[in-house]
Amino acid sequence: MGEDFPQDPKKQLVGAIEAVFRSWDNPRAIVYRRMNDIPGDWGTAVNVQSMVFGNMGETSGTGVAFTRSPTNGDKHLYGEFLMNAQGEDVVAGIRTPSPIDHLKQTNPAVYEQFLDICSRLENYFHDMQDMEFTIERGKLYMLQTRNGKRTALAAINIAVDLVKEGLCTEEEALLKIEPKQLDDLLHPTFDKAALKKSEAIASGLPASPGAACGKIAFSAEEAKERAKAGEKVILVRVETSPEDIEGMQAAQGILTARGGLTSHAAVVARGMGACCVCGCDAVEIDEENDVCIIAGKKFTRDDVISLDGSTGNIYVGAIPTVKPEISGNFATIMEWANKYRKLQVRANADNPRDASVAYDFGAQGVGLCRTEHMFFEAERIPAVREMIVASNVVQRKAALAKLLPMQRQDFIGIYKALHGYPVTIRFLDPPLHEFLPTKEEDIRALAKEMGISYEQLLETVHSLHEMNPMLGHRGCRLAVTYPEIAEMQTRAVIEAAIAVNKEGGNVKAEIMIPLVGDVKELAYVKKVVVDTAEAVMAEQGVKVEYMVGTMIEIPRAAITADQIAKEAEFFSFGTNDLTQMTFGFSRDDAGKFLGDYYSKKIFEFDPFAKLDQTGVGELVRIAVEKGKSVRPNIKLGICGEHGGDPSTIEFCHKVGLNYVSCSPYRVPIAILAAAHAAIKNK
Ligand code: PEP
Ligand code: MG
Repeated sequence: MGEDFPQDPKKQLVGAIEAVFRSWDNPRAIVYRRMNDIPGDWGTAVNVQSMVFGNMGETSGTGVAFTRSPTNGDKHLYGEFLMNAQGEDVVAGIRTPSPIDHLKQTNPAVYEQFLDICSRLENYFHDMQDMEFTIERGKLYMLQTRNGKRTALAAINIAVDLVKEGLCTEEEALLKIEPKQLDDLLHPTFDKAALKKSEAIASGLPASPGAACGKIAFSAEEAKERAKAGEKVILVRVETSPEDIEGMQAAQGILTARGGLTSHAAVVARGMGACCVCGCDAVEIDEENDVCIIAGKKFTRDDVISLDGSTGNIYVGAIPTVKPEISGNFATIMEWANKYRKLQVRANADNPRDASVAYDFGAQGVGLCRTEHMFFEAERIPAVREMIVASNVVQRKAALAKLLPMQRQDFIGIYKALHGYPVTIRFLDPPLHEFLPTKEEDIRALAKEMGISYEQLLETVHSLHEMNPMLGHRGCRLAVTYPEIAEMQTRAVIEAAIAVNKEGGNVKAEIMIPLVGDVKELAYVKKVVVDTAEAVMAEQGVKVEYMVGTMIEIPRAAITADQIAKEAEFFSFGTNDLTQMTFGFSRDDAGKFLGDYYSKKIFEFDPFAKLDQTGVGELVRIAVEKGKSVRPNIKLGICGEHGGDPSTIEFCHKVGLNYVSCSPYRVPIAILAAAHAAIKNK
């Protein structure tokens, strides 16, 4: 800073080396590591080597190439080169390079030699290669080769092809696919019929697949801000640079006017799984006035455009999208993963629609049905509120009676969607204040419905106020105070099971009691559940299969798991609350200060997304051991957000859980991660 550029070559070299080492800790690198699960203590390395020059006239040049398409995995050489240029000129997107095939005409001998090197490298590394080369006065030099980054689509196609070509085994092929990447294939694509009717106004290079629609944002900062405020935006830039990484992530898609398929925008978007169209020379951007011209038409930040990252086409307006499905090579990969994994994969689903998405994606059950989510619907909330503010058991039971048929109907739908796989139904858990009316008009309406005065109801609402609701009257504590809630929920679970079984179903219901810290809490609620279930079955003269278990989400429950296992037929680790209570970090507010923890290197990752194996994980390990010591066949699962995180899934495999449960759209990711865990820890 503030110094003249050194003229001494040795100083230049040392300065360059130091700059590389410093780059490990710049904010962009920290964000990148967090996104890709790379530990900060790995550090980086510097190679010093003599270089050749690609800018020594028209017989020199430089290029970047992949042995297979990094976009869809097709087996052909894919890349680009520029004559009379250095490597920077290709990747910086300053000049648009020529496709690698044209090298055949420019220098046939070098092209043939390059093809030969490509196939030797692939056969040696058993994977698709990403190579850089320079031609100096007609002679080819290879600068580097590495396993190439690729889209999720390319990753699965390449993995299946490599097995077909005999270059690797199924297990090795599975390990070449990053589980989190599958996420990109689980997102919508454009509706084919709607796409047919739309006319592309321009076309760029198809840099990273996917379908994206949104309003135009002209800077990464703007994209980030507007996305945070809930808007869908497309980042439109001349070209992107490393400073833009967060804006690129926040945007639905990225469009650049300049740069090839190996430009910054293309490479980074592919890495993120974001839709990207680059090098579209029909795009002109007037950054000063925040307008752009696409194929002669003017667009501002209020205009919506759609990008097709698979074709490079750009459209005006929003094109409807369709749900993804698992077929072709994706289905083959899932089949292989199912063959090798040991962990079962379930989904967290609160309604029949999500349960059916989960089933279609391969879920083997519901690991968490948060019953309260069904309570928030507009036509139900009045009955829920009535139940909460009821001043006596008669009033409360009257309100619960209104909820029973709705709850029963939901369970029927979920059981049916799961076709005989187990369904874990978690009883009412959240702090009740979440349901209470706060607006005067709502309190008045509810008072009228309940036949009491506004003042009387207002007083009840105030009396339910808690200083710290997350540690307050929630979880099993609700059922301790109001056993009639657990009675109603049990009745709904069992009656729904009987109804579905009558139609030929084979329901396996698992009733889960939340937020237990002491075995006596569980014993109390379990008795209510069992008594009710037996009564319902006696009334109807049929038996159904059901279990009663608990969440392990309070540290005390983990530490006393041997006692708890005497009552619980299964444990499901609620690692959201377990993380909250082990760290003492509010799960709703930690985001406000975790940023400082990352930048000050106190934390490398968000413990609410990736399980803290040292602390929270140790509690899980203790609970597994203690639980099994009392009940060797105890069923063990995880249903916190961590259940869809690949590194946590590997931990769950090692610690001996039976299943992980995650959101429906993460089921295929969890299936692949479970296979990775089994293959790596054979
Ligand atoms: C948990 O705490 O991990 C859990 C799954 O329950 P919830 O997120 O509903 O508190
Ligand atoms: Mg919880």
